[in-house]
Amino acid sequence: MPGVVGGLTAADLLPGKDDLVPRFPQERLRISHGCREDQIAEAGGEELNRHPSTLKLSFGRGVQHVGEGPGSFAAPREEATVARVAVLGTGIMGGPMARNLLRAGHEVTAWNRTMEKAEALEEEGARVAQTPADAVRDAELVLTMLADARAVEGTMIESGALDVMPQGALWIQSSTIGVEAIELLAELAGKRGITFVDAPVIGTKKPAEDGELFVLASGPQEARARCEPVFDAISRGHVWLGEAGLGTRLKLVANGWILGTIENLSETFVLAQTLGVDPRSFLEVISGGSMDMPYAHLKGEAILNQDFPPSFPLAHARKDVALILEAAGDVELPLMRATLQQFDRAFELGHGDEDMSAVYYASATNGGARP
Ligand code: NAP
Repeated sequence: MPGVVGGLTAADLLPGKDDLVPRFPQERLRISHGCREDQIAEAGGEELNRHPSTLKLSFGRGVQHVGEGPGSFAAPREEATVARVAVLGTGIMGGPMARNLLRAGHEVTAWNRTMEKAEALEEEGARVAQTPADAVRDAELVLTMLADARAVEGTMIESGALDVMPQGALWIQSSTIGVEAIELLAELAGKRGITFVDAPVIGTKKPAEDGELFVLASGPQEARARCEPVFDAISRGHVWLGEAGLGTRLKLVANGWILGTIENLSETFVLAQTLGVDPRSFLEVISGGSMDMPYAHLKGEAILNQDFPPSFPLAHARKDVALILEAAGDVELPLMRATLQQFDRAFELGHGDEDMSAVYYASATNGGARP
């Protein structure tokens, strides 16, 4: 079906109202396994099971899978399975993810390099581990949500945590670390006989707090059911894409779109200011029309108020642009290259810990214009 990426349609990746969260396609189901929308309508919201790939869907409670194979979606289920989960990295994203796992009834052991951030979870029932190895020693599921590849490798490989993971435990790797690193980690986990699931997420601080991320999972199909209790607790749905690495690839594609967009928005504001136009009137003019996007208003407000509390720290956004260019290899992506220059500049100006929308300063200082 045109426009479908591993079962995920462009519509599914549209930002939600509050932030960059795809809408789980419960109202507008489009499926890559050959089931037409009229067949779905015909099913009248009842369970449907007429496709060779055991397609099942429901618009109500209960069955939440749409297909079973690569590219199939699932939304959180009502009934939960409790697991022993180790969360390594309790920063902006990992902290709320751990909290939502606790709320869902899981036994959570948390580890963070800066201990206070893990200790903040103690009063909600988490056990705090002193080392990564202690965190994973008894875990059934290990979730890593760390800054970058260096942090994941240091925490899981160099510290010896992977070596002490129980046989049969499963590693869900959600940090955004790029294709090369994810493939290396999948290989190292495989050598130890540990099942590895590449599971980056779409959505930022607030969706993480609300348990409304969207997980781009990939790995052995038989691992899916074991991951689902975790995905159910942290997300509004997930897609299972196929072999490990595909989740990271789709994550880079989605981030390329949004990081190019934030740079475009910054330049649009600087152009408006340079021409003596109030950027707010630009937002008003596009509002509600086909040129509009919720993201422009969300991040536009931050720029207009020059208030950049980090939802997605600029330093991580800069890392992701570099990962996109690295993954693209010889294929030239001029927009991404220019975007990286701007993120580098904003980082050098000291905005690395602010929200990525502070990339605005790279253009503003160039043009000498500030709101
Ligand atoms: P964050 O708040 O900066 O958290 C980063 C985590 O990594 C912290 O726990 C930090 O520990 C740890 N860390 C950094 N360097 C380390 C090292 N060398 N060794 C061990 N631990 C280290 O970032 P975040 O926003 O939660 O992002 C985490 C990951 O999710 C990143 O890969 C990011 O790209 C990705 N992501 C973020 C968002 C978002 O909107 N924020 C959305 C999707 C994906 P300390 O507390 O000690 O610094």
